[in-house]
Amino acid sequence: MRVDAGFDWDALVDWTLDHGLQGLENLALIPGQAGAAPIQNIGAYGVEVGKFIAAVRLRLPGGCRRPADGRACGFGYRDSVFKREPDRRIVTAIELRLPRSGATNLAYAGLSEELAAMGGLTPTPRNA
Ligand SMILES: Cc1cc2nc3c(=O)[nH]c(=O)nc-3n(C[C@H](O)[C@H](O)[C@H](O)COP(=O)(O)OP(=O)(O)OC[C@H]3O[C@@H](n4cnc5c(N)ncnc54)[C@H](O)[C@@H]3O)c2cc1C
Repeated sequence: MRVDAGFDWDALVDWTLDHGLQGLENLALIPGQAGAAPIQNIGAYGVEVGKFIAAVRLRLPGGCRRPADGRACGFGYRDSVFKREPDRRIVTAIELRLPRSGATNLAYAGLSEELAAMGGLTPTPRNA
């Protein structure tokens, strides 16, 4: 799916869950816009957005447009090529590839401990 840079990130997470798409649930409630998500490779509770970014659509100096393949984004922990080279590109949209099935990532220590304390619940992506 392609998302315009100005789309609210948390509203996007909600939209994906409403439409049966998974993967972003751990990144709910992170404030900001979709276009900022790849800049620092937003992450939370053991999940980073870079895992789901297929491409980032860019406007370069001079006005030309170019998509960057996800693998060319240099994603690292709260890091990307965009963060290392600020002022070189404007993100105009991101393209995400999200699964329609699969387990929610509950591996993050704080999450698994809290769920164990709650009696070993296995939440769905929507209520995670
Ligand atoms: C309460 C709170 C909780 C947070 N929790 C988390 C968290 O759990 N995980 C996490 O990773 N972050 C977290 N953050 C940080 C923040 O939410 C993210 O960095 C988010 O991506 C910022 O989005 P923004 O639209 O406000 O970007 P801004 O803060 O406006 O910009 C961030 C940077 O990205 C650049 N930028 C923004 N949009 C574009 C664009 N379209 N093209 C090119 N460059 C652009 C800006 O120039 C700037 O350098 C949190 C922040 C707050 C205040």
